[in-house]
Amino acid sequence: MIEHIFNFSNLVTFVDILLVAVLLYWFMLMFKGTRAERMLWGIAVIIIIYFVSQRAELLTLHWILSNFLGSIAIFIIVVFQQDIRKALVQMGKPFSSRDTAGSKEVLEEITRAVASMSKARTGGIIVIERGIDLGDFLEVGVEIDAKLSKELILSVFNTNSPLHDGAVIVRGSRVFKAGCILPLTEKELTKSMGTRHRAAIGLSEETDAAVIVVSEQTGEITMVVEDGLFVDLGQDKLLTDLKKLFAHKSYQRKTILPWKAGT
Ligand code: ATP
Ligand code: MG
Repeated sequence: MIEHIFNFSNLVTFVDILLVAVLLYWFMLMFKGTRAERMLWGIAVIIIIYFVSQRAELLTLHWILSNFLGSIAIFIIVVFQQDIRKALVQMGKPFSSRDTAGSKEVLEEITRAVASMSKARTGGIIVIERGIDLGDFLEVGVEIDAKLSKELILSVFNTNSPLHDGAVIVRGSRVFKAGCILPLTEKELTKSMGTRHRAAIGLSEETDAAVIVVSEQTGEITMVVEDGLFVDLGQDKLLTDLKKLFAHKSYQRKTILPWKAGT
């Protein structure tokens, strides 16, 4: 009896089931909180009905479901391409070896520009690329590829400049693009946060970039990095936070998340 339980084929079956369970759990975890999660649960229910209909010999139902499940992969890829992209980006993060520049001089220059914009109540978004290539996330925008300086950033965001609408992208020590339209978050935000803040949070949901927002209405400086939102930053605090972030030290995340704070 004991020999029968511990025979090789039982062990293989056990490992097989365990692997599938772990894979399914990991898969669900990857999509947790995304729109695709609910649909995946729906598909899981359909798969269960599929097997039940097979056992119960409900031939018509089984035939319909097997045809549906046969074409579902293409349907999922088309409808949820954004969520799949996000999940794959998350998976690849630990292996990304992209140069994450952010030299002291560049960060200081950005901070000086941001402080000046804040004083003058000039609105703007500055995105600093980190590990993930932002190329895929910027559909609109004009390539600049010039050495970064406070003056260059201020000229771009000057309200008379044709590029002042949208975001500036910093790659290494250069201003890569300007006038970029970022993906908007679908989360509920506080009333003081309009589309500019919505765009900053939207990009941070999909990438690891550091996104700095200067409010045109209040002059307030906000930084969004992944799931951390740092509000009402002064020039010094912004610079220290940026230096910490780019030094890869443990980065203390404040949890002032507007979609949790209500109002
Ligand atoms: P502020 O505090 O500066 O008023 P806000 O969060 O209230 O910002 P809006 O007042 O709606 O936002 O700001 C509009 C500006 O935000 C636009 O003029 C444009 O420059 C910028 N913006 C809007 N949508 C995007 C986007 N998808 N990507 C980049 N920038 C955007
Ligand atoms: Mg506004």
